[in-house]
Order: sequence, then C-alpha cells, then structure tokens
Amino acid sequence: MRVLDVAESLNVVRGVAPLARHFVARKVDEARVFAKKAGFPVVLKAVSSGIVHKTEAGAVRIVHSEPDLARQFVLLKRLAPKVLVQEFVRGVEFIVGLKKDPVFGHVVLAGVGGVYVEVYKDVSFRVCPVDEAEAWRLLDDLQGSAVLSGVRGKKLKSELLVDAIVKLSELPKKQPRIAELDINPFILNDREGKVVDARVVLEQGLC
Ligand code: ADP
Ligand code: MG
Repeated sequence: MRVLDVAESLNVVRGVAPLARHFVARKVDEARVFAKKAGFPVVLKAVSSGIVHKTEAGAVRIVHSEPDLARQFVLLKRLAPKVLVQEFVRGVEFIVGLKKDPVFGHVVLAGVGGVYVEVYKDVSFRVCPVDEAEAWRLLDDLQGSAVLSGVRGKKLKSELLVDAIVKLSELPKKQPRIAELDINPFILNDREGKVVDARVVLEQGLC
C-alpha cells in the first residue's frame, strides 16, 4: 500500500470535485505571494505522507496576517520540506470517500464530516458507480441530512455534493488501484463546495 501526501491526494481528486485553491510552497516568499492573492485568512499544512492526522500533529495552521504566516511557516517547515498554502473556505463540513471492499468492490460513502464523523458515525454507503438519483438517496439516508436543507436560514448547495459523489463513484473504473480515498472535509455553503483535505491509499501495482 502507498499512502499519498495531501498534495498528491488532492491531485487524484482534481477533476472529480472542485478543490480549494492552493499552492505547494518550499519558501515563505512563495506562500506570501499566494496568500496575498487569495486573501487572508489562509490555511497552512505540512505536506508529508507520514502525517496521517495533520491537526493532531500540529500540521494545520490558520493564519490571519503576513507576520503570522512567516512565523507559522517556519514551524511547519520543521515537520516537512513542503507546506501547502490554501484558501480558507467557510461552510459545513462533509466527508466523501471510496473504499475497496473485498466483497462488494469499490463503495462510495458520504456523511456529515469534521469532528462529527467520529462522534455520530453518520455515514452511508453505496456500491460504485452511482447516478444522481442514487446519490440523493444516499444523502437522504443520513441522520444529518436535514443540515443540507438549511443552516441559519441558508440553504446549502447540495447538488455540488451530489455531483462529487457521482463523479467519485466513477473514479475506480479509471483508477482501480485506489484502496481508500477520503475527502474530509468537503466544505459546502450556499454558493460553493470545495475539497480542502484528501487522503488516498493506493494498492501497490507494477506500474
Ligand atoms: P487533518 O484532517 O489531517 O487534521 P485537515 O486539512 O482536514 O487536516 O484540517 C483539519 C480541519 O481544519 C478541517 O477539518 C477543517 O475544519 C479545517 N480546515 C482545513 N483546511 C481548511 C480550509 N482551507 N478552509 C477552512 N477550514 C479548513
Ligand atoms: Mg481532514
């Protein structure tokens, strides 16, 4: 099995779902240029396949200013040679993913994400591939499905989540070596839905 780092994993997901804008920086100046363009706050993440839970390893920092960015960049460089700089996305967190099951083959899953995924274990599964109607039914199965129809009076753009589920469910056809793929979180608001974190595990193959 080969575990991809966050930057490589985001590349696997590219084309399947919109990604939060990001740049992989080796030098603080590169990070600064990106942050000025994207606007603060930005999120910094150490890029290392050895770090599974970045938050717990202190490898995720939200920065609000240039001096803050310079300080945190140095700290993250102690963990990894590369630092991902990413736009900050506001919204509700979902998990979307793939797993290779020994009986069913690839299954696609979705649920309410962030910390709640561990607390409520509110995730539902379907065998790949699924069409739009099946993806909507998958979301309806969630105990937390009500969150999609409104948070503080604002309706989330659920169709973007459905689109990500459908496209993700078609990915194993092209990339059968995916053993596991976790998008956590996919952040959804009333205008957009973006992947901010991904983790991919590939089966070892000959090529
Ligand atoms: P990990 O899951 O490895 O700890 P994440 O990249 O998922 O690392 O970051 C942890 C948490 O930080 C996310 O669940 C989310 O709440 C927040 N976060 C990370 N990146 C962003 C972003 N670009 N915009 C908004 N929140 C973010
Ligand atoms: Mg995550």
